Amino acid sequence: LHQSKQYVECDTEDNLLEVVALVEARRGNITRDEAEAIVLGADPEDAEEPATPTFRAWWHEWLPTKTRISPGTRATYKQQLNRLCSMLADEKGGPFGDRCLADISGLDIGRLINALRANGLGNKTITRYYSVMFSAFNAAVLQGLIAKNPCRDSDFERDQVADDDTGEEDHVYLTSEEFWLLHDCLAPDSQNFAEVSVATGARFSETSALTPMDLVRPTARHPLPRLWIRRAWKRGEDGTWYLGTTKGRQKRLITIDQALFELLQRCSKAKEPDDLLFAAPAGGRLIHENFMAKRWNPAVVLAMRCAAHPPAPQERPLEDAAGTCGEHGGRRTDGKPCQAALKPGVDRCRWHCGPEREAVSTCECLGVLHQRPTPHDLRHTCVAWLFADPTVTVIAVSRFVGHATMAVTDTVYGGLMPSTEAAAASALGRARGRNSVALAA
Ligand SMILES: [Zn+2]
Ligand SMILES: [Zn+2]
Repeated sequence: LHQSKQYVECDTEDNLLEVVALVEARRGNITRDEAEAIVLGADPEDAEEPATPTFRAWWHEWLPTKTRISPGTRATYKQQLNRLCSMLADEKGGPFGDRCLADISGLDIGRLINALRANGLGNKTITRYYSVMFSAFNAAVLQGLIAKNPCRDSDFERDQVADDDTGEEDHVYLTSEEFWLLHDCLAPDSQNFAEVSVATGARFSETSALTPMDLVRPTARHPLPRLWIRRAWKRGEDGTWYLGTTKGRQKRLITIDQALFELLQRCSKAKEPDDLLFAAPAGGRLIHENFMAKRWNPAVVLAMRCAAHPPAPQERPLEDAAGTCGEHGGRRTDGKPCQAALKPGVDRCRWHCGPEREAVSTCECLGVLHQRPTPHDLRHTCVAWLFADPTVTVIAVSRFVGHATMAVTDTVYGGLMPSTEAAAASALGRARGRNSVALAA
C-alpha cells in the first residue's frame, strides 16, 4: 500500500476528476507515475530519468565516430581514455569509467585532474587528457545525453598548445598595432614566421611545413601571387613526427598580397625547393614547445613590459647581507632554494635581481601589450582582420583558413561575423527590382 501523499498536476478539470476517480477506484493503491500514465497519457517509462551511459560506454561509442583524426591520434586517445576510466577507483562513485555521464560534475573533473597530477603528470600532459575528455563530453552534449559539459565547470586551465580551432579556447585578437609591437619584440629569426602566420591564418603545424615549392607566382590567369597550404607536421602512431599531406578543405591554395609574396621569396632564397622555410635553428621541424619557450614567451613578456612602469624587482635593499639567496626567499626555477651568495647590499643573488622572468607591467599605457597571445592567436587575429572587412564573406574566410566545414567557422568565430542583415534586405530589394531599401552603413 502506498501510504505517502503524492501530487499529480492536471491541465484541465476533466483530467483532475479522472485522476480522483482513478485513485478512488484503486483505493489509493496507485503511484503518481501510474496515475499520470493512465490519465494524462504519459508513458510510465518516461517518468523515470533515462539512464545515461557510463563514461566508458560513451567513449567506446564516440571515439569510432570521429572521422578527422589520424590513426596515431586515435590510438593515443584510446590509451588516455582507458587510463581516465581506471582513475578515482577508491572514491565514492567508483572508477571514473563506471560513472554515468549525468552523474559526473565539475567537481569530479577537478578530482580527476588532481589525481593525474598526483601521479606525476605535468600540466602539458594533463591538458591532453583534459582535451580528449572535453571532446567526449561535448559530443555527449551534442547527442542530448547531458545538458552541459562538466569540464566547463572545473577550474582547470589548460596549457596553450592547441594548434587547431576547437571553439572553446580563449581567443586573443590583436590589433595591427599590437601585432607589430609583438613582432618587433620577437627575435629576428622569428619575425617572418609571425608575419606569415598572421597574414595567412595558417596553423603552426602548417606554417612550419611551408617550402619554396608552395609559392605560386602570378600568371596571366591569376595576376595575384598564391600560396599552397597542403602539408602539416603530424604525429605518427609511434609518436614520431612526419610531414603529412592535409586532406579535404584543409588543403588550400590561397591568394596572397604582393608584400607577403616578396617576404616569402626572401625566405626562399638559397633554399632547395623542398627545404623548410621556417626550420628550427638547428634545422628540421620547428618544435612548438621550443618556439614557445625560447622565442614566443620572451617576446610576449617584453611586449608586455612598460618602460615607464617596469615590473617590481625581486631584490630588496639589505645592509650587511649574509647567507645564501635561498635563505632570503630566492628560488630556482625548480622551486628549490637558491644556493648562490647574496649580491652585496640586497637580499638576492645577482641572478635573482630584477623582475621575475615572466613578470609584466600592470599599467594601462599605450604602446604596451596588455594581453597574452599564443602563436595560435595569430590565426584568430587573421580571421578577425578578415571579418573586419565587410566585403569578405564567411565562405571566403572558411576556405581561406581551411576549416573542414562552415559550421566550424560559425562555431569558432560566430561572434566576429559582421551583421549582414542590412545587406540581405538590400539584396532582396534589388532582386525584386525595388531599390528603395537603403543599405545601412
Ligand atoms: Zn639566487
Ligand atoms: Zn606604463
